[in-house]
Amino acid sequence: MPTWLITGASRGLGLGLAQELIASSDNIVFATCRHPEEAKNLRLLSESPSRKGSLFIIQLNVTDEASVFIAQREVESILGQRGLDFLINNAGVATKDDLPSNLSVSNLISAVETNVGGTALVTRMFIPLLERSAKKIIVNITSTLGSIGNDTGGEHTTYSISKAALNMLTYKQVKERPDLITFMIHPGWCKTDMGGDNATLEVAEGARKVLRIVKGATPEYTGKFFDEEGVIVPW
Ligand code: NDP
Repeated sequence: MPTWLITGASRGLGLGLAQELIASSDNIVFATCRHPEEAKNLRLLSESPSRKGSLFIIQLNVTDEASVFIAQREVESILGQRGLDFLINNAGVATKDDLPSNLSVSNLISAVETNVGGTALVTRMFIPLLERSAKKIIVNITSTLGSIGNDTGGEHTTYSISKAALNMLTYKQVKERPDLITFMIHPGWCKTDMGGDNATLEVAEGARKVLRIVKGATPEYTGKFFDEEGVIVPW
């Protein structure tokens, strides 16, 4: 049974990914979130009679080193000798639309802390478990708003900077560990708290598109930036 860890699974895309994974096949899913007691939909999912896979809800705040360490130990004890096949760094924060002229430095620091620092920290802590897997796949959920070559406009300055920095982190991760299959996916514009009601994709559709790409991953995906259709996005 493939093993998966998803960050930010309390709601939105992370919850959608967990839902798709446990509904469709015999996956073992570690759905992590900051506040398991408040993650009502995730708890309902874990009790759903239609699930086929196994779901473990694990407390993990991506910006809190102690929390990530404890989560890693918990996941390791459940996995036993088995490795972690897929790590999906999905947790992220967006900020209100802004322009360079009204950018708030404290918002920028907090967006980078979660979107970049959180991904670096979680990946570092879980690499020993990925090393025990034959797959070793790491997916960083990014956004086309972080692409300079594919600038879709809009204000979003702080968020775009944080995702461009996440893309650079991914590039550096690949350079340091070319033996792992690390790549980025933009999940499409999804109807989540972040994406809003006008978004074009239902959460389940976005999750399915992401999983289609992830399940087809080969070593050639390493270092690439894909959109939700699997098309390469310029940096
Ligand atoms: P949501 O705002 O709906 O959900 C964000 C998730 O991240 C929540 O589960 C939230 O947890 C979690 N999170 C935030 N900070 C932390 C933290 N410090 N530790 C752990 N979890 C945290 O966003 P989406 O589901 O829409 O976004 C998921 C990913 O997809 C993000 O990386 C986002 O940037 C990216 N993305 C989304 C798009 C969209 O259209 N929706 C488009 C392009 C990219 P909590 O409930 O505790 O706050």
